[in-house]
Amino acid sequence: MALHILDHPLGTHALTHLRDQTTKPATFRTLAYQVSLLLALDSTRDLALRPQAVSTPLEAITGRVLAQGLVVVPILRAGLGMVQPFTDLFPEVSVGYVGLERDHETAVARSYYCKLPPLAGKRVICVDPMLATGGSAVQALNILRERGAIDLRMVCIVSAPEGVQAVEAAHPDVPIFTGALDRELNGRKYILPGLGDFGDRLYGT
Ligand code: URA
Repeated sequence: MALHILDHPLGTHALTHLRDQTTKPATFRTLAYQVSLLLALDSTRDLALRPQAVSTPLEAITGRVLAQGLVVVPILRAGLGMVQPFTDLFPEVSVGYVGLERDHETAVARSYYCKLPPLAGKRVICVDPMLATGGSAVQALNILRERGAIDLRMVCIVSAPEGVQAVEAAHPDVPIFTGALDRELNGRKYILPGLGDFGDRLYGT
């Protein structure tokens, strides 16, 4: 399985400010948008194209246009903070939702919502900003596979080695795109150095 770590100066810059504990929710949302936009580009670099005839004002040519449908699936609620770059870049994208809630004591994910468009034949991109234990990602990818997704990607802003290993073990064919690969999880399953609770920082809760 391939792990793709974002390699762009704007990504590094935005991630540093995302990590800063003094960054306020409004700025945090803008920075999350920027990193997610770069990740959206990275994770769709190999989308299929098909030929299309067009006429420029000067001559007829065969151009190429996107041939593969795209579905982005945020894991609620923090994943919502990564959706807009996909809808801005890809006007035809469908959005599905998987609601998984992490129990703060046990760190085990519980499914409470699932609403998905047809997935067969589409590039399906599951987004969750923090790949910590990998429990939520593995569970979401299981659901997406059960619903017919084959061409899957996992896109995260910050990942822990433990989460990457969990996804790799359960879904070895799913490439992971991440803004950063951090050091480790702490005893409460937060990523170190990380950026704290992404959902709380995004929504100011
Ligand atoms: N979820 C978060 O929001 N932050 C972490 O560090 C781990 C999981």
